[in-house]
Amino acid sequence: MSRNDRLLKKAQWLSMHEKMFKCPICGSSMKVQQLASLVCENLHSYDISRQGYVNLLSHRAKTKYDKALFEARKMINSSGFFGPMIEGISNRLIRMQKQELPESGKPLRLLDAGCGEGSHLSAIGHNLREQGHESNVVGVGMDIAKEGVVMAAKTYSDPMWCVADLSQCPFADEQFNYILNILSPSNYSEFRRLLTSDGMLVKVIPGSLYLQELRALFYTGTGKETYSNDGTMELFSRHFERIEFEELQYRVVLDSEQMKQLIHMTPLSWSVSSEVIERMSGGEMEITADFTLLYGWK
Ligand SMILES: [Zn+2]
Repeated sequence: MSRNDRLLKKAQWLSMHEKMFKCPICGSSMKVQQLASLVCENLHSYDISRQGYVNLLSHRAKTKYDKALFEARKMINSSGFFGPMIEGISNRLIRMQKQELPESGKPLRLLDAGCGEGSHLSAIGHNLREQGHESNVVGVGMDIAKEGVVMAAKTYSDPMWCVADLSQCPFADEQFNYILNILSPSNYSEFRRLLTSDGMLVKVIPGSLYLQELRALFYTGTGKETYSNDGTMELFSRHFERIEFEELQYRVVLDSEQMKQLIHMTPLSWSVSSEVIERMSGGEMEITADFTLLYGWK
């Protein structure tokens, strides 16, 4: 698809769904103008990029997440490391759809808050469509890191991709049936505001054994060999009326190239010297994936 076609397609999508958005600066409603930008009642304007995303940040944000990191994440995603976790979330959403919205025909609106380079949302959207929600899945991915959103937009034409700030989400109230928040920071008051009254938040956090092999190598003797998610669980349960959780553990063998990408992608390695990283990524390794999937209803 050429860049102009992509821009046109995104602008048409935004025109159809403009009620979903609100201005992150003044909170007023927005309209697509000249198939090129979203403009609010007070004339704050947000351009639709030719790469196929819309930048809804009112300021330039600095993040630690650069292009190389998202490249690494994308490679790890395609290695299948997150496969069972994505499958677990997809199956849960498919079950929910069957129980709670049987044959309603209403669009299923899905926000990935912290979508990074977009592969999780893309895979989950694909799984939902395979279950017969062809034209009914309306997906939106947002991330404050522009590098991730650009990569998502270039790779996946389908959902809408936005650069946006979690503390000022550029969406009107009660727009989403499901919010995904996968290994990414939360803003619970915004999530509650954006969810429909029967909507569900899906948050994925690492379990205590997540990447334990890397943890052991990087952190031996520092007191950081183990990790607890108790604080996150506690905070989550304070914000939602009804919660459920599911634990998911599995092991994946990664080759030396994938090991390099995994090490690069994880914050565990940010304080470790490059020689140590080089030494570690010398060969194949079996790595533990351990996730807690938290589900919350308001
Ligand atoms: Zn405005």
